[in-house]
Amino acid sequence: MAQQGASRGVSTHTERGAAEAVEVARASCECGRPGCRESLRISLPTFEWARTRGLIVLRPGHEFEDDTVVDRTTEFLLVRARVG
Ligand SMILES: [Zn+2]
Repeated sequence: MAQQGASRGVSTHTERGAAEAVEVARASCECGRPGCRESLRISLPTFEWARTRGLIVLRPGHEFEDDTVVDRTTEFLLVRARVG
């Protein structure tokens, strides 16, 4: 359905496939267990988003019972940072 001239001067682009090229970071598990040397792969935008929300990233299974898991994938968990 082309409506030529209906939106003169307005140009929008949907760049499909851009999400495939997202930068992936390797982050250390932040569970805080002594001796934990696990690392995880997380997309950089997700990692930075988590940082701005005060969330930490853990390997699945490294969360503690009283942790608040905000999001989980097979690769990592986003957990609200414990305070105090
Ligand atoms: Zn850990």
